[in-house]
Amino acid sequence: MPVEFKNYIDGQWCNATNGKRFENRNPANWEEILGTFPDSDSEDIDRAVRSAAAAYDAWRLMPAPKRGEIIKRAGDLLVKYKEDIAREMTREMGKILLETRGDVQEGIDTAYYAATEGRRLFGHTAPSELPDKFNLSIRQPLGVAGVITPWNFPMAIPTWKIFPALVCGNTVVFKPAEDTPATAVRFVEILLEAGLPEKVIQLVNGYGSSAGMPLVEHPEVKLISFTGSTPVGKLISSVASKDLKRVSLELGGKNAQIVMPDADLELALDGVLWGAFGTAGQRCTATSRLILHEAIHDKFLPMLIKRAEKLRLGNGLEPATEVGPVINQKQFDRILSYLKTGKDEGAKLETGGERYTDGVCKNGFFIRPTIFSNVDPQMRIAKEEIFGPVLAVIKIKTLDEAIRALNNTKYGLSSSLYTRDVNAAFKAIRDIEAGITYINGPTIGAEAHMPFGGVKETGNGHREGGWPVFEFFTEIKTVFVDYSGKLQRAQIDNQ
Ligand code: NAD
Repeated sequence: MPVEFKNYIDGQWCNATNGKRFENRNPANWEEILGTFPDSDSEDIDRAVRSAAAAYDAWRLMPAPKRGEIIKRAGDLLVKYKEDIAREMTREMGKILLETRGDVQEGIDTAYYAATEGRRLFGHTAPSELPDKFNLSIRQPLGVAGVITPWNFPMAIPTWKIFPALVCGNTVVFKPAEDTPATAVRFVEILLEAGLPEKVIQLVNGYGSSAGMPLVEHPEVKLISFTGSTPVGKLISSVASKDLKRVSLELGGKNAQIVMPDADLELALDGVLWGAFGTAGQRCTATSRLILHEAIHDKFLPMLIKRAEKLRLGNGLEPATEVGPVINQKQFDRILSYLKTGKDEGAKLETGGERYTDGVCKNGFFIRPTIFSNVDPQMRIAKEEIFGPVLAVIKIKTLDEAIRALNNTKYGLSSSLYTRDVNAAFKAIRDIEAGITYINGPTIGAEAHMPFGGVKETGNGHREGGWPVFEFFTEIKTVFVDYSGKLQRAQIDNQ
């Protein structure tokens, strides 16, 4: 009998009101069930939001440095349980242990960074244009924050959102991805063990349309922080805008790495292998296009194919495994359909391009690392997000052409240029349309204290990580203190 996990609503671990449940299976072996989870709906969301709203006043009045201390303790607990969480996360969503440990580490770094922000949350002071008057701005929380997350970073992404939301004084209703609910339960347990007052966090498991959308629509929810696909982000934005809710969207990507002739080719090779095939290509920042200068194209491509063919697929819990499965049947089918599209469009399949079923992989969603060459920037495989271990190689003649090819997509998350030419590097930094640009590093890898996010259809201008996320989770109040003892009229008495 699989373990029955619960929601956390109104200070209690509980089932969905409708009694329904869904299964969570290991993508490396679909015969292994991790547990069943509440398949919640609008009734559970409503209970959770009303409880979080009732808890808001006490929480917002707790001094921010004290709130930060709780987040610091949550970071300490993530350190303590890191290995357990990483192993469970690998079973739940497939990526290799090295990467699930990194996922938890990102949560730890975010906790320690967010905890100290409780002692800053800076506003401004500025001189008044009138005598005996004092001007300042302060930051205040908004109320109940709705948080909706994807499955590919089951710990890191919830911590990016929930730690800052809490430090700023908001209460949170958390709807995690239906593919990674076990890590979400673990995260909420840690917050409670760290001393977060009950009802300040609420966890509602379930699917996007039945549990996620009611959270977006709920009138008591003041802001939504969402990471996921662009179509769902657009839908959320249109629904939330009816009530003028604040919405932060971190959406899809179609990231590219450019390699120029003067680059360190071995370094560029390590970068593209890690960027394209790490997490089986299922990172929002994954390298899904490789833009090679014609002078090194014919040398670099065979080096890349040789290394890609050596990557070991398997269960992520095995230390030798380098590439795990993709997340579920739907995503598996979607990637396979893009492999067909690539061939139909006339790209040359150099390696991979099929399901992998050897040995322990026979009951899992494994796809061999795939490389297409002869890709034109106009092809669908060069423009659309595939979200799997598939790399499209484009040949170019100049840096300008490389940047044009890189920009030729509706997304704009991450980008990378390998070169030793400082002029080329600064030109690329200026002209690449992306929220993140790496010079001589792969497209993947965030740091907790730096802003993270994208341009164009990757987002709506907000950033996670670093200081900007604390702006998202607070409202500015401007304060004027007049200690002159008389009526002073701005723009009139000081003409
Ligand atoms: P998804 O959009 O299918 O789901 C994300 C979350 O939204 C899940 O919790 C899901 O239940 C919920 N959801 C789905 N439909 C909904 C609806 N109608 N209303 C409300 N909620 C709904 O995305 P996914 O497959 O989980 O994740 C992969 C996508 O996420 C990729 O496009 C990837 O690029 C993107 N992503 C972006 C970033 C970033 O920071 N830019 C990071 C990670 C993943």
